[in-house]
Amino acid sequence: MRNNHDNHNMPVKAKNLQQSIIKILNKRADIYGFAYLEDIVLKFQKLKYAISIAVKLSNSIVDGIVDNLSPTQEYCEEYRNTNLMLDKIASNIENKIKKSGYNALAIPASKKTGFALRGEFPHKTAATRAGLGWIGKNSLLITRKYGPRIRLVTVLTDLPLKAAKPIKKSYCGKCTKCIDACPAGAIIGEKWYPGLDRERLIDVFRCDKWKKRNYYAICEGHICGICMAICPFGKSEKPKK
Ligand code: SF4
Ligand code: SF4
Repeated sequence: MRNNHDNHNMPVKAKNLQQSIIKILNKRADIYGFAYLEDIVLKFQKLKYAISIAVKLSNSIVDGIVDNLSPTQEYCEEYRNTNLMLDKIASNIENKIKKSGYNALAIPASKKTGFALRGEFPHKTAATRAGLGWIGKNSLLITRKYGPRIRLVTVLTDLPLKAAKPIKKSYCGKCTKCIDACPAGAIIGEKWYPGLDRERLIDVFRCDKWKKRNYYAICEGHICGICMAICPFGKSEKPKK
């Protein structure tokens, strides 16, 4: 479906470049989309378009979190390796765009600023804008195909892209699985809509404190994954052997 920024009048050079980015992403990413961000990107004002890229996590490793009711060393490695893979894809796309005369900036998959435990750029916001999914009650991006069992990276650019229709509503419905499973009691239970503060979904300090106190031996307490692994979205796929 067309929206105001689908750029059907975009220059041929930009159209061709988007097509060649699509070819790369078809090979290397599990899901991706293109977003127009003008009204939400403040720090990166000239880069008003985003490429949101997701790589899925191994189902058997994610299922291991549910079996153990705790993060696992395997999940820690999968998390780090997937982030590295995403960073490589993003840097490759960034270079490709720059070589064609446009500007681009790959935002690393898990770079933290340390401020209020937020990443440098809201990958999840770019992803909802790019039509990849909605934000669940667990504050994670929920995609239709893989649920929250993915990691994300973003490339910002001034290349005029044909953008997707943003997702503006939560499809969590009455589900409370992540709320019930969170051992820290950190998930508040509100349903997301665009612009809702993350603090209304999750108490990040409570979550972080729990992880540091209970899972320090695994990824220095940076990960947990229980509210991701328990989500019914993404579970329908047969787990990998
Ligand atoms: S990551 Fe773990 S502690 Fe944090 S909200 Fe999810 S289930 Fe709770
Ligand atoms: S577990 Fe249920 S409420 Fe939580 S994010 Fe998934 S669908 Fe939404």
